[in-house]
Amino acid sequence: ASAASLALALTACGQNSEGGSEEDKGGSGGATIGVAMPTKSSERWISDGANVVKELKAKGYKTKLVYGEDDPDQQVSQIENMITQGVDALIVAAIDNKSLDNVLQQAKDADIPVISYDRLILGTENVDYYASFDNEKVGELQGTYIVDKLGLEDGKKGPFSIELFAGSNDDNNTKYFFQGAMNVLKPYVDKGELVVRSKQTALNQVTTLRWDGGTAQKRMDDLLTSSYRNARVDAVLSPYDGISIGILSALKSDGYGTEAKPMPVVTGQDAEVASVKSIITGEQTQTVYKDLRQLAKVASNMVDAALNDKEPELNDTKSYDNGAKVVPAFLLQPVSVDKDNYKKVLVDGGYYTENDLK
Ligand code: BGC
Repeated sequence: ASAASLALALTACGQNSEGGSEEDKGGSGGATIGVAMPTKSSERWISDGANVVKELKAKGYKTKLVYGEDDPDQQVSQIENMITQGVDALIVAAIDNKSLDNVLQQAKDADIPVISYDRLILGTENVDYYASFDNEKVGELQGTYIVDKLGLEDGKKGPFSIELFAGSNDDNNTKYFFQGAMNVLKPYVDKGELVVRSKQTALNQVTTLRWDGGTAQKRMDDLLTSSYRNARVDAVLSPYDGISIGILSALKSDGYGTEAKPMPVVTGQDAEVASVKSIITGEQTQTVYKDLRQLAKVASNMVDAALNDKEPELNDTKSYDNGAKVVPAFLLQPVSVDKDNYKKVLVDGGYYTENDLK
């Protein structure tokens, strides 16, 4: 790692949050859990860190929370540090799901159980459990929303134009999201009712490294220039709110968002505050909400079970093969959110207050 990334790693390690106390050991025996999150550049992971720490503290655990700033090397050295410091278990949301082999072998050698958080870690047996959402369902919700919103389900024939975006190619979730969406969209593409004018329909043509909104904006700019001089884009499949923001910027620069040239249907994921606001004002159309409070509960229950030689609650022991083993999982259900149901789902559900969304 470069000096700069080492310095960053040290700073991030300084962001430790020590929970619990000697008196407040619960069933935890005073154990410390290391929590490695991918980045603070997206709100969802900040919430994940806070929620997981809260759940673990409630069970009497101490915690160390680190963020890798989307640099795989930095994440590896952060996890190494936590192992050296003697954490008793690890919760890891990987940056690059194939880069953790060696460091997780060190965890195994030190008898430290590992929970793969949200993103499946690949190619190693040293992952005990996987806590996530039904990732293919996320994509299905995005694809179904596009089809419904364009009215294709009602027999409206189109053709409508659509462009496709996917997430980071080093994130195992990316292919599930894309597959889920394409399961719904592809039949319409095949019938010619949806047309991808750029012809970029293969996953490896549409990924967005590190889920970066700026990268997506640039690609959308290029698509508008190359394929939409004499046509309008009616829908954009976007896998994540931060990518949607980039796509919307490109569309706005190209004059979309007026009565004459309305915004296309643009999907998203995570129900981040900025994107829910964008949905309320009629720019982004939809997002997929994943209740991170529940995910934190699932992950901390898995840690607790692993440290106490018990089996945690699991609901999927077949789907997630990481190449070295099928990782037993608990998958939560994602929910599609738009202007019509955001109040019911997000505000009444206690995830945000009305004020958060003003
Ligand atoms: C998560 C999504 C998130 C994306 C970008 C994925 O692994 O499942 O919720 O939008 O990473 O952070």
